[in-house]
Amino acid sequence: MRLSEMPIGSEAVIVKVLGHGAFRKRVMEMGFVRGRTVKVLQQAPLNDPVKYSIMGYEVSLRRSEASMIEVDPVSLPGQTPREREEQHEAVEHAKKETVINVALIGNPNCGKTSLFNIASGAKEHVGNYSGVTVDAKTGHFDYKGYRFNIVDLPGTYSLTSYSPEELYVRNYLRDYSPDVIINVVDASNLERNLYLATELIDMDRSMVIALNMYDEVRESGAILDYKMLGEMIGVPMVPIVAKTGEGVDKLFDAVIKVYEGKHEAVRHIHVNLGADIEKMLRQLIDAIKAAPDIGMHFSPRYIAIKLLEGDQEANRIIGKTPEGEKILELRDQLLKQFNIDHTDADIQELIAAEKYGFIAGALAETYKAGEKDTLTRTHVIDDLVTNKLFGFPIFFLIMFFIFWATFAIGQYPMDWIEDLVAWLSQVVNNLMPDGILKDMIADGIIGGVGGVIVFLPNILILYFCISFMEDSGYMARAAFIMDKVMHRIGLHGKSFIPLVMGFGCNVPAIMASRSIESRSSRIITILINPFMSCSARLPIYVLLIGTFFPKCPALVFMGLYILGIIVAMVTAKMLRKFYFKADETPFVMELPPYRIPTFKASMRHTWAKGEQYLKKMGGIILVASIVVWALNYFPIRDGKDQAEIYAEVAREGEEISPNDSYLEMAGKAINPVLSPLGFHWRASVAALAGVPAKEIVVSTLGVLYAGDEAETNERLGERLEKPNPITHKPDFTHASALSFMIFILLYCPCIATITAIVKETHSWRYGAFSIVYNTLVAWVLAFVAYRIALLF
Ligand code: GDP
Ligand code: MG
Repeated sequence: MRLSEMPIGSEAVIVKVLGHGAFRKRVMEMGFVRGRTVKVLQQAPLNDPVKYSIMGYEVSLRRSEASMIEVDPVSLPGQTPREREEQHEAVEHAKKETVINVALIGNPNCGKTSLFNIASGAKEHVGNYSGVTVDAKTGHFDYKGYRFNIVDLPGTYSLTSYSPEELYVRNYLRDYSPDVIINVVDASNLERNLYLATELIDMDRSMVIALNMYDEVRESGAILDYKMLGEMIGVPMVPIVAKTGEGVDKLFDAVIKVYEGKHEAVRHIHVNLGADIEKMLRQLIDAIKAAPDIGMHFSPRYIAIKLLEGDQEANRIIGKTPEGEKILELRDQLLKQFNIDHTDADIQELIAAEKYGFIAGALAETYKAGEKDTLTRTHVIDDLVTNKLFGFPIFFLIMFFIFWATFAIGQYPMDWIEDLVAWLSQVVNNLMPDGILKDMIADGIIGGVGGVIVFLPNILILYFCISFMEDSGYMARAAFIMDKVMHRIGLHGKSFIPLVMGFGCNVPAIMASRSIESRSSRIITILINPFMSCSARLPIYVLLIGTFFPKCPALVFMGLYILGIIVAMVTAKMLRKFYFKADETPFVMELPPYRIPTFKASMRHTWAKGEQYLKKMGGIILVASIVVWALNYFPIRDGKDQAEIYAEVAREGEEISPNDSYLEMAGKAINPVLSPLGFHWRASVAALAGVPAKEIVVSTLGVLYAGDEAETNERLGERLEKPNPITHKPDFTHASALSFMIFILLYCPCIATITAIVKETHSWRYGAFSIVYNTLVAWVLAFVAYRIALLF
C-alpha cells in the first residue's frame, strides 16, 4: 500500500521509498526510513499536502510524494483491537527480515540469465544470441541474513523507448524501483556494454556493475583495473564468471554494502555531455525541478536528456503533467537554437558520441587489451559456417546429425526402458488378482504412460542438441545464413531461431518470437511455428518409423521435419501475400563470439526438459490414459468387459456384435471424416485424443493396443503390425502409418500452443485460424500422401 492511500488517523510502517537517488535521499532525510512508524494527521483543504507525524515530528508531504512511499498499515480506523494486534505482529515479523530487491540489467547476451540461474538456483533459458529472455523472471535466495528478490530482465542496449524490451525495462524501473541494480556487462566487450551503464548513472540509482565473462578477459591476457574504473564512474565493480559462479559471492557482498550505503566506491557522477548540451540540460533540469509532479520516478537529469533526445515516451509522460507543456516548449526552443548552431549534427548522435567518449576516456586509463585475440577462433569458424558455399551444407549436415542422434543413439536407452516397462507389466500381471484394478493398471497406466515414457531418451537427446546449438552461438549463425531464405518468404533471419526452438516445444518458441520488432513478421512467425514438429510429436514418429520404415529411419524422420518446414514456408508466403503487407525490417542480429557451453549447463537445460516431461507423464498423460482406458473398457455386458468380449469374438471368429465400447462408438462416429486418410477407428481416436497434448497420441495407442497377458513382452510397434483379430488385417500399414504421421505433424496445435498464440498475438482469431487452417492442411496432405503411398 502507498502512504498516500492511508486514511486520516491511521498508522503505518514504512517499507520502502521508491524513486531515484536524490529524491529518496531527500525523503529519507525527512525521516521516512524503512521500519519507522508514521501516522496520518490531517489533510489540507484541497487534499494536498498531507500532514504526517513521524518520530514525534510533524512533517507535510505532497500527495504525489506520499505516493512514492510504500507502507504496511499498522492500524486503520474502525479496526477491532484484535485485528490491530494481528496486523502489528505481522509487521513486526516482516521488519526482522531484511529484503533486498535486485534487478539484473544489461545488454543482450551478457550472461544475465546465467547469473540469475546460479544465484537463485533457477533453470531459466540461456542462449548465446540476443532476445532469449523476453519478460521478467523472479527468483529468491537467502544470503548473509538477507533475503534477495532477484529479477532477470530482458536484455537492452540502452534505455530509450525504441524497442519493446527497452520500454519494458524502463517501466520496470519506474514501477518497482529495485533497491539495487546489478548492471551485468560483458567484460570482454566493455566499450559497448558500458553505454547502458552511463544511462543508469544518469538515472541516479543504486547499482553495482558485474563484470561478467571475466574468464575471457583473463584468457585474452587483457588487464583491467576495475577498482579504479569503478571509482572513476562511481559504481562498484566486481568481476565474475556467471557460468561457473566464480565471484558471485563477492558480487552480492557488494550489493549488500551498496544497499546499506556503506560502499566506498559509490559516488553520484555526471557523465559530461559537453558545454552546449550541458547548458541546455541545466535549464531543463531547473524547469523539471520546479514542477513537483515530474522528477520523482526518474532523476531530472535523466528526464532532461531523454527530452533532448526526443524520446516518445518521455514526451508523452511529461506532456500529461500540469507543467508539462511549458517544459516541452522550453525543450523545443532550446533544440531550435541548438540546430541553428550545429547544422551538421544530430543531438542524439552527439549525446551518444559524448557518452562513448566518456567510456573511452575511462578505459584508456584502466584497460590494456590483451595480446591474444580471442576473436580469431570465432572468425575462423565463421568463415567456414557462414561461407556462401559451405554454409548450407554444413547446416544440413548438423541438422541431419541431430536427427540421426535422436533416433539412433536414443534407440539404446529406449530399449532398456521398454524392457523395464515390459517387466513391470509382467509383474503386475502375475501378482495382482484379476479384476478391474489390474486391468486399469496393466492396460491403462502401464500401457499409456509406459508407452510414452520410453521416448524420454530421444527427447532428451534432441533438447541437448538444440541447447548446444543455442549456447555455442551457432544458432545465431544459422539465423544469419538463413536470412536470405527467410526474406523470400517475407520474414527475416531473426524469425529463424524461434522456428528451430519449435522443434523442442512450440510454446516457448512462440514466446521467443517477441524479440521480433515488426508486428506482422512476429505474427507470421507465431502462426507457422506449430508446423515445426515439436518433441511431443517425436514419439509417434519413432514408434511408427521404427515399425514400418526400419530401413531408412533417419531419412523418413528428417523428411517429416522438412515437410513441416515447407508447409510453414508456404503458409508464411501466403500470409504475407494475401493478408499482411510487405515489410522489410533490416536484419540487426548480432553474431556473438562462440562460447563452448559447459557440460553442466547443457545438462541442466536438458534435465529441466526431462523433468517437465516426467511431470506431464504424472499429470495430464496419466489422466488421459485412464480416461481412454475406461472408455475402451466399458460398458460391461454379461459380466464381461470389452477386452474379453473382443477376445471371445476373435476366438470364435464371429462378426462383431453391437457390443462396442464407448470409445469405439465415438471412434466410429468420427471415422468417416478420417477414414479417407487410411485411419482405422483407433487411429482416429488417438489423433483426437492428442488435441490436449500431443504425447497423448502415443499413450492412447499404448492403451488401445495393450494386448493381452500372454503378449506383454511384445513392443507396442509389434502389436501395431499384427492383424486385427476381427478384420484380419493390420490396423496400420505403411501407407496409413505415413499418412498418420503427416496428419499428426500438421493438424490442430495442442491446447498450450493455442493459448500461447492467443496470448502473444492478443487475438483469439489467430488461435482459431491455427485450429482450422492447420487441420485442413493436415487432412489434405495426409490424404495425398496416403493415396500416393498406396501406389507403391
Ligand atoms: P543473457 O542474454 O544476458 O541472459 O545471457 P545468457 O545468460 O543467456 O548467456 C549468454 C551466453 O554467454 C551463454 O552462451 C552463456 O553460456 C555464456 N556465458 C554466460 N556467462 C559466462 C561467463 O562468465 N563466461 C563465459 N565464457 N561465458 C558465459
Ligand atoms: Mg537472458
